[in-house]
Amino acid sequence: MGGRSKVNTFKGLQERVTKRVMGWKEKNISKAGREVLIKTVAQAIPTYSMSIFKVPRAVCDGINSALAKYWLGQTRNEHKIHWVNWGRLCTPKDRGGVGFRDIHAFNLAMLAKQAWRLTQETHSLFYRVYKARYFPTCFFMEANLGSNPSFVWRSLLSARDVIKEGSIWSIGDGCMVGIKSHRWLPHPLAFHEGVDSAVKVKEFIDPQTKQWDRSKVNTWFRPSSRTEVLRVRLGSLDYRDKLVWNENKSRTFSVKSAYQVALRIHRNSSAEHSRAWDDKLVWNRLWGLPIPPKVRNFMWQACSDILPTRANLVWRKVHIDPKCAICGEHDETVIHILWQCPLARNVWALVRGRLQKCDSSALDFLSLARTLVVKLSREELETWAMVTWSIWNARNRIQFEATQTPPQIILKGAVSLLEEYHRLASSRSRS
Ligand SMILES: [Zn+2]
Repeated sequence: MGGRSKVNTFKGLQERVTKRVMGWKEKNISKAGREVLIKTVAQAIPTYSMSIFKVPRAVCDGINSALAKYWLGQTRNEHKIHWVNWGRLCTPKDRGGVGFRDIHAFNLAMLAKQAWRLTQETHSLFYRVYKARYFPTCFFMEANLGSNPSFVWRSLLSARDVIKEGSIWSIGDGCMVGIKSHRWLPHPLAFHEGVDSAVKVKEFIDPQTKQWDRSKVNTWFRPSSRTEVLRVRLGSLDYRDKLVWNENKSRTFSVKSAYQVALRIHRNSSAEHSRAWDDKLVWNRLWGLPIPPKVRNFMWQACSDILPTRANLVWRKVHIDPKCAICGEHDETVIHILWQCPLARNVWALVRGRLQKCDSSALDFLSLARTLVVKLSREELETWAMVTWSIWNARNRIQFEATQTPPQIILKGAVSLLEEYHRLASSRSRS
């Protein structure tokens, strides 16, 4: 099976997916609706080929970018502004993303499932065929690409990083595991100077008693690691060392956990590692609010600083005046227009309770969210989100339709929409 023809097949896949996304007519569909559509596309990609072939990175990126554009409401080339990268969108919701499936990571996880079988099921036909051809004298994890490798073999090897990251060695006879080169304890080990990395764990096991050779362990390992080493239970020298999946309680390999590992590897290697990913409390509370999904999505955009405010557009190289069109005094940043601008302050002044007394001097919208999720009750947070959304709509009406909305009406709009949403939700749960 030629690699080139496979690549062409994947190009076809990319074209089909992109065409399908472009074909979605619903321009006015909400972000939440788009989210559902996108998730169906990701599931439509044939898992069979994903589990045998490594889809070229360019194809994954092409599909991802078509989906990202669609989600952000950009069709074809009308807006070329790059608001947020796909990696961020694929981050789980509690870490600041939207939870889309990263096709590349999913592909690696599916491949890892096959590769994992090559480390475990030594009696299967699959194992025997591949062992004979590609790693007759060593273990799968140590195998080389070799000359004239097939596309499938190449693909399987690419999944080894996922296995390395997600598994740990369980010690049997200690013959395969290098004390330095393999991961066999949860924490990195500390050695004394001059330890040879080729030394195997076997060297530290007394063949008579089948227990740790304490004096050797003491000479080679630093005190901080000794206890951890000695705590490893031995006594099965008749067994070979075994790779154990280390990413879930049941210690059984699953594509789901491997997918998380693949995402982790990708995140660690990508430059864009924003602090936003660490704000678990903020994201959990925001996504958990019982408010219309479109408002939740809007709040995510506000906290992620990707709303098309004037300052944000300038920052993304659009030639306009960054100054707020309403007060004309400050640059129109997200925190300014939604919290600090007189338009916003007049609305917030009307909201009763703790929200009214909140300090208006937050640095950016995410910092404000960090303070509020701790300070406010769930009901107050609901109001905060709804009113924020309502202020943004009022801002858009001024900007695009030259229509002013009085603060009372802005607030009323938010409150009545929330009430209506709750009424609908409770009648739906009753029926
Ligand atoms: Zn302003």
